[in-house]
Amino acid sequence: MRLVLVGPPGAGKGTQAAFLSAHYSIPHISTGDIFRANMKAGTPLGLEAKAFVDRGELVSDAITNAMVRARLEEEDARAGFLLDGWPRNVSQAEVLRALMAEKMSSLSAVLEFSIPSEEIIARLSSRLTCRQCGKSTDAGSTSCPADGGELYQREDDKPEVIARRLAVYEEQTAPIIHFYRTEGLLITVTALGDVSEITQRAIDALSRVQ
Ligand code: AMP
Repeated sequence: MRLVLVGPPGAGKGTQAAFLSAHYSIPHISTGDIFRANMKAGTPLGLEAKAFVDRGELVSDAITNAMVRARLEEEDARAGFLLDGWPRNVSQAEVLRALMAEKMSSLSAVLEFSIPSEEIIARLSSRLTCRQCGKSTDAGSTSCPADGGELYQREDDKPEVIARRLAVYEEQTAPIIHFYRTEGLLITVTALGDVSEITQRAIDALSRVQ
């Protein structure tokens, strides 16, 4: 399975990606997670990305595409992958198409999580993230339900940055939905309801493309 997840910030892509990657035994490749891990470790890539990530802007295509290309070359991504957060604009989608053609391969599907914008703002502003494992959880928890790690609010989950991320999504990322619909790859599922219900909806929809 070679899968791309698309959806606005807060649609639950990261949470669903973890379940889907386990279900299909494919690596979960999240550009946001890779950037945050590099920022935490203070690598040159992390230092370069930080200003953009903290402001809710996209990191340059050159940096992001090179990072994903290298990740897709790793052994575990040979038999399939789940891309979460890339491509995030039409130019990145074109790079992915060229990359697949180079490998004489193609995507299995692009899964779009759709969600009303009022729900997005409510979810993001109450979301906390684990410093250890990076999983997100609802406000109200005092420690990470997965590993007991300390929770914090991501710089880019603060209200002023959320507005910018949503605008960036509408301007730059939403056009890839049309791109993939035209390519006949798009599958849309509603991202409302219980986490397990949404996972099942996604698996049912994907069973038609396998
Ligand atoms: P996410 O965790 O997917 O919400 O990503 C967090 C941040 O990482 C984004 O707001 C961007 O600053 C950066 N980022 C993640 N993926 C990309 C991408 N494909 N292109 C450019 N920047 C990205």
